[in-house]
Amino acid sequence: MNSEFSGDTFVSHLECGLNGDRYAADQIHGLSQAGRPLLVRYDLESLAGSVSKRMIAERLPELWRYREFLPVRHAANIVRLGEVMTPLIPAARLPAGSGQIWIKDEGRLPTGSFKARGLCMAISMAKELGIRRIAMPTNGNAGAALAAYATRAGIEAFVFCPEDTPEINVREIAAQGAKVWRVNGLIHDCGRLVGQGKEAAGWFDLSTLKEPYRIEGKKTMGLELAEQMNWRLPDVIMYPTGGGTGLIGMWKAFQELQSIGWIDGKLPRMVAVQAAGCAPIVRAYEEGSPHAAVWQGAHTVAAGIRVPAAVGDFLILRAVRESQGFAVAVSDEAIMTARDQAAALEGVLLCPEGAATLAAYQQELASGRISPGESVVLFNCATGLKYPLPEVTRSLNCDEPIDYSQLVYDGD
Ligand SMILES: *Cc1c(COP(=O)(O)O)cnc(C)c1O
Repeated sequence: MNSEFSGDTFVSHLECGLNGDRYAADQIHGLSQAGRPLLVRYDLESLAGSVSKRMIAERLPELWRYREFLPVRHAANIVRLGEVMTPLIPAARLPAGSGQIWIKDEGRLPTGSFKARGLCMAISMAKELGIRRIAMPTNGNAGAALAAYATRAGIEAFVFCPEDTPEINVREIAAQGAKVWRVNGLIHDCGRLVGQGKEAAGWFDLSTLKEPYRIEGKKTMGLELAEQMNWRLPDVIMYPTGGGTGLIGMWKAFQELQSIGWIDGKLPRMVAVQAAGCAPIVRAYEEGSPHAAVWQGAHTVAAGIRVPAAVGDFLILRAVRESQGFAVAVSDEAIMTARDQAAALEGVLLCPEGAATLAAYQQELASGRISPGESVVLFNCATGLKYPLPEVTRSLNCDEPIDYSQLVYDGD
């Protein structure tokens, strides 16, 4: 494929997200010595001298078109399952303000969620760095993406899920070749098992933000959004926030693009959307604290954002505050109403987490925190088809005469 894609990256070093300590590139890293996420830093000046918007526009419509902004050195290490660019769908029929609303439908990616962006990068880098065995806690979609990419890379994968992880996720993880267990706890309990087993099982810990490259994969959401919008970003981005990889990654993308002069004007306000039953980031935002305390008794239909404690909490809060956005919680009831509304009015089947962004948008339009004229991008992070849908009980008997003029449909 891309002959120029071999041997060089623009990565200069890695950096502790908390204190800025530097770490060497091309080595296996987990968290920084301070126990915080590592961020990949690039020689942006050389990068900008080597690639142009026009060159990118001519490449395949997949996330590897942004390769200069990514850490993989050798094309041979890329693990591919078709990481397509996802559509930005205008929503014209939803009750909204006067500004434009788009849904970025990430459900089109391999394994049906945007976890594919992060995991294709983390697994490609694991392959490049010679890692043979990995483990991860998951609420579902991350495990599914991990299973698919690890299997493709020939890397052995161990996955630990909270007991109430959606059945479909546990099954797809197993079907795609990972070793998966249900655990009688929440995601951070599963994360504890991954940490504790490290020594005895000899696996590398691929937990959210505990390795540096998933953020880089999720960063492509921001690069792609900028390119799709002709390098002019929306006023507001609503992001369903669990571990926050995507929000942190997008904010990093915008800062990198801004520093090489590819975008100008104001950056979007980043809004972290959580469920009322698990809203540690919202609480910390409201209290003005830089870190979030663990949320007790987490419960929500939106399993992907049921994360009581996020290692990258301070990075989420920093991005939200720097961008003059905010963090907001919505009820499960509002989430399900929003899902039904988007499906019935727009023909777009959102996952519950994606529906949470729509619910939050409508709530904050009403509260005035978002003004009616602002343009907004809502992130639908997974295909709605992975989640239970309302039952349909109507039926017809085709052996008896049917009065077609009398077909009634409640809801008409
Ligand atoms: C993982 C996940 C999220 C949360 O994404 P983060 O970037 O980890 O905050 C939201 N929705 C779905 C469907 C997910 O799988």
